[in-house]
Amino acid sequence: MTKIGLEIHCQLTKLESKLFCPCKANYREHEINANVCPICMGLPGTLPRLNQKAIEKATIIAMALNCTTPEKIAFFRKNYFYPDLPKNFQITQLNIYGDTSVGGSGMIMVGDKKIRITRIQLEEDPGRLIYEGSSSKNQITLVDYNRAGTPLVEIVTEPDFETPKQVREFLNILSDLLENLNVSDPSLEGAMRADANVSIEGGNKVEIKNIGSFHDLEKAVHFEITRQNSLHSRDIPIVQETRHWDDKRKITISSRSKEEELDYRYFLEGDIPWIKIGKEVREKLKSEMPESISSKKERYVTKYGIPDQVADVLSSDKFYSDLFDKSQTGNNAKEIANIITTDLMGLVDTREKREESKLQPSHLKDLADEIQSGKLTRSSAKNALYEIVKNGKELSQIVSDLDLGNVSDEDELLKIIKQIISEEPQAVEQAKSNPQTINFLVGKVMQKTKGKADPKLTLDLLKKEIG
Ligand SMILES: [Zn+2]
Repeated sequence: MTKIGLEIHCQLTKLESKLFCPCKANYREHEINANVCPICMGLPGTLPRLNQKAIEKATIIAMALNCTTPEKIAFFRKNYFYPDLPKNFQITQLNIYGDTSVGGSGMIMVGDKKIRITRIQLEEDPGRLIYEGSSSKNQITLVDYNRAGTPLVEIVTEPDFETPKQVREFLNILSDLLENLNVSDPSLEGAMRADANVSIEGGNKVEIKNIGSFHDLEKAVHFEITRQNSLHSRDIPIVQETRHWDDKRKITISSRSKEEELDYRYFLEGDIPWIKIGKEVREKLKSEMPESISSKKERYVTKYGIPDQVADVLSSDKFYSDLFDKSQTGNNAKEIANIITTDLMGLVDTREKREESKLQPSHLKDLADEIQSGKLTRSSAKNALYEIVKNGKELSQIVSDLDLGNVSDEDELLKIIKQIISEEPQAVEQAKSNPQTINFLVGKVMQKTKGKADPKLTLDLLKKEIG
């Protein structure tokens, strides 16, 4: 049986500052090596200043993943020498004096499969190495310390996954969960990284390091299973080793360097005391947690009668569920859910498009009202939505600018219908013998009115005319 375990590194991108200093947690907008201070550069004489909010955010992640949360947490030094680590040690967590990481054993369901969480720890991100030059001869390595000290949560799972598909499903659930908790934006470059361990029946465990995105994680796991199966089928032993993910070639490569066998000489971080997180604090954090995705879904289904599948899509994406919750007034809930899941999703399917979108919750309410009162057809509403996302104008303005108002004037509509009947004698004959085919003629009227004809009125008038 194939066994896959994961270590997910997730940056707490919604925090203001780094884990131990006041530099910005959002390091991406700065000039290289401009988002640094004596603390995160590890200058002699500086002391870490722990970011309380980081502990709170990490704790609610632990709670959302059904982990135990200890009374006291401790920090440790993990010692190693590498250019991306200015202090020559990383402040992290370790369960050596009991469970003192922010989260203990937990679990999450992926479909019917239970994935156990081993632990969750809070640590600082190292700096970033940038390699330049095309060949090994002229390659140079540059280092950017803007990222050094960014708060990072590491989520370690038991080797409970059996297929790359389960890994992908887990990552989707985890991304939605982190976004819903308002702790991280998984779509930011580098916000989610991972290591994985993979073993097949009868083989040794292989670690894969350095997987830079969730997208690549599934690929790396898939590659590694195929590689191990191929060795196994040729009776070549699978050695226990660490491999690196090469994201350009999309393969794993054995890393033979001794660096991987370092003894990290962990010891307690003496500059940060043990932190007590009392029961009251934990209960307060729990009570302030945002509504979970599953409870949102249940609310949408039971309170508004939204179909299961639509509620699933709506609740799992914070952007859409926020829009829905802010715009619906109860009796238009289904219509708004419909607009979001059928029309809006195609218009704002990337992070950039969402940021540029001018749509406000009130626009959705107006659109739903106009559809329900019959003043706008769905097709016109779709056109209006496109304009709203682009320029944010009021719906009434867009309707008059684009002349989207319904053709609900009987005389006007009748004129068009008569014209269609004269143009389509064959379809008319067919509709007489087989009433189902009348929809073809309704479609023609819609075409002629650019989707503005009231469909119900059109059908009634057509039936009357054809007789
Ligand atoms: Zn700093």
